[in-house]
Amino acid sequence: MNYHQYYPVDVVNGPGTRCTLFVSGCVHQCRGCYNQSTQRLDSGTPFTQEAEDRIIADLNDTRIPRRGLSLSGGDPLHPANVADVLHLVKRVREECQGKDIWLWTGYCLDELNTAQREVIGYIDTLIDGKFEQDKADPSLKWRGSANQIIHTFTL
Ligand code: SF4
Repeated sequence: MNYHQYYPVDVVNGPGTRCTLFVSGCVHQCRGCYNQSTQRLDSGTPFTQEAEDRIIADLNDTRIPRRGLSLSGGDPLHPANVADVLHLVKRVREECQGKDIWLWTGYCLDELNTAQREVIGYIDTLIDGKFEQDKADPSLKWRGSANQIIHTFTL
């Protein structure tokens, strides 16, 4: 997997102070995509063991308490990204007690295949669906268009 950006301290993408990773690769081709440069799988930088270790360390850094991890892109559930994203979310669950995981995907929840659904089993919140320009609404929280749904799996 490649990624475009990693923000170790982010207060924009999800609730509270977070670590946020924007991965590379997306098949959805939404008109008005806000992150077109991330659509190609081979864009960005390889997501190495060091990059993964850094996220775990940042989430556990008590000097700047983070509420959790946000995964966006691109699409973290692009079939080519699923194995690496699954590895990451499992580590967060095992090694970062009390941290939540939010994930944005262009797929709808009911379209996900078995491998993609396995990732969902480790996250707290999924924001799903393509960005639809005719349903865009800047007043929406955590999503760009009204068709996208915020699914909360844990309370
Ligand atoms: S799902 Fe997101 S990254 Fe992918 S094309 Fe749509 S808006 Fe762009």
